Amino acid sequence: MTTTYHNLIDGEMVSTSATMEVLNPATEKAIGLVPSCGAEELDRAVAAARKAFKTWSKTPIDDRRKVIQAMSGAIKENADELFRLLTSEQGKPHDQAKGEIYGAAGMVAAQSTLSLEDEVNEDSDTRLSRTRRVPVGVVGGIVPWNFPVMMAMQKIAPAMLSGCTIVLKPSPFTPLATLRIAELIKDIVPAGVVNIITGEDTLGPLITEHEGIDKITFTGSTATGKKIMEGASKDLKRITLELGGNDASIVLPDANVEKVAEQLFWSSFSNAGQVCIAAKRVYIHEDIYDELSAAIAEVAKGVTVGDGSQQGTGVGPIQNKKQFERVCELIQDAKDNGYKFLSGGDVDPSGTGYFVPLTILDNPPEDARIVAEEQFGPVMPLMKFSTDDEVIERANNSEYGLAGAVWTKDTDKGVAIAEQLETGTVWINEYMHLSPFAPFGGHKQSGFGAEYGTEGLLEFTYPQVITVKKDAAV
Ligand code: NAD
Repeated sequence: MTTTYHNLIDGEMVSTSATMEVLNPATEKAIGLVPSCGAEELDRAVAAARKAFKTWSKTPIDDRRKVIQAMSGAIKENADELFRLLTSEQGKPHDQAKGEIYGAAGMVAAQSTLSLEDEVNEDSDTRLSRTRRVPVGVVGGIVPWNFPVMMAMQKIAPAMLSGCTIVLKPSPFTPLATLRIAELIKDIVPAGVVNIITGEDTLGPLITEHEGIDKITFTGSTATGKKIMEGASKDLKRITLELGGNDASIVLPDANVEKVAEQLFWSSFSNAGQVCIAAKRVYIHEDIYDELSAAIAEVAKGVTVGDGSQQGTGVGPIQNKKQFERVCELIQDAKDNGYKFLSGGDVDPSGTGYFVPLTILDNPPEDARIVAEEQFGPVMPLMKFSTDDEVIERANNSEYGLAGAVWTKDTDKGVAIAEQLETGTVWINEYMHLSPFAPFGGHKQSGFGAEYGTEGLLEFTYPQVITVKKDAAV
């Protein structure tokens, strides 16, 4: 069944004459029809956000908090409907979709508790100087298709708390759950504070270059991030870029093979590997390589790839055809080069749905495309290493610098290695844990700026220093 969805502009759910179809990646059938906005609708959304900014930016922060908390409540109350919708458009299994919806509601509530206190720089007999944090204005939020709800809400909540208003564009592949949330929050959020508009990729550059937008917060690929930086340079918009990654996971020889095999498996395969912070290169010490790689391949045997709405599915399809073809191309390249597979490798291109078997590679070379490039699919290259120095160098030999992990009983050693990795986040003995109170962001071509925590909140503000001369002769 195809349902028609609307956009949220100036507190109203609106439609457009042009529409776009949204497909279920497991069935390749259309499940939703959404507005396809162009410059005219964007202008209306920006005008509404500019108008709302005048009052929202002056609304006391505690009142803004209450609105954000009510939004979190609305998501939680409707979680059942939302997670099913999310699975149907994104493909992830129900339990993971449920995790994303409840996770987004929890993250929104947690972010609402952050503060924006003034800082006193000097309070002397002669002068009082303080820094206040002023909201930058109207924010343009652009999000990808892998965690559509989480990514949308992690932009909307801090923008609102800071006093900004926002025009948010979901990915054209996965706008449905976000538009349902738009409907749910329509009467909670004052008109114009949050506007959610959908359109093809061509809508993105219009947002980036719009004169009425003061800041862009973007999550997506590094290639698009570069275009955004270029577009935003025209009027020097503020930008936060959360981009791609090729995270390395390093397993030291003292790691317990039985205990880590399953965790390592899911660090690469959850959400069908379509996670910016998935382990995309796994380095295992040579002493435990054979045993651990066999154990990981064994875990793969017990996991079913299929339609995320079906019970028992552990890994869903790739979200869209373009990405499916890219992952297939990387697997084919590995086959053409004669690399050894411990699992998977044979995709059925004629089948319905964008399914890729769980693919594990046995020690491919460092310069293999499947190692050097961000796969963003259910693919896990396992590589052997001998020394700490060698593996640190190999892990850092990447244009990306998003995250990484070290697995070891010796946590001091794990931390010592972590401190040498050129990434924004490193986990010791876990993976993908993000806290709403700790900054998350990339180094190198994984982007800059941060989301989450006070640092993330400050990205929506600029510092204004006000100095009062106490003993002035006026
Ligand atoms: P993408 O860059 O293709 O698209 C992201 C968004 O940008 C979409 O909404 C798209 O419509 C829009 N867009 C496309 N072209 C644009 C342009 N020229 N100007 C402005 N906007 C434009 O990314 P994707 O394929 O949706 O997502 C996958 C990528 O996102 C991966 O590289 C992944 O690592 C990255 N990602 C990063 C993080 C992070 O926090 N660092 C999180 C999730 C995903």
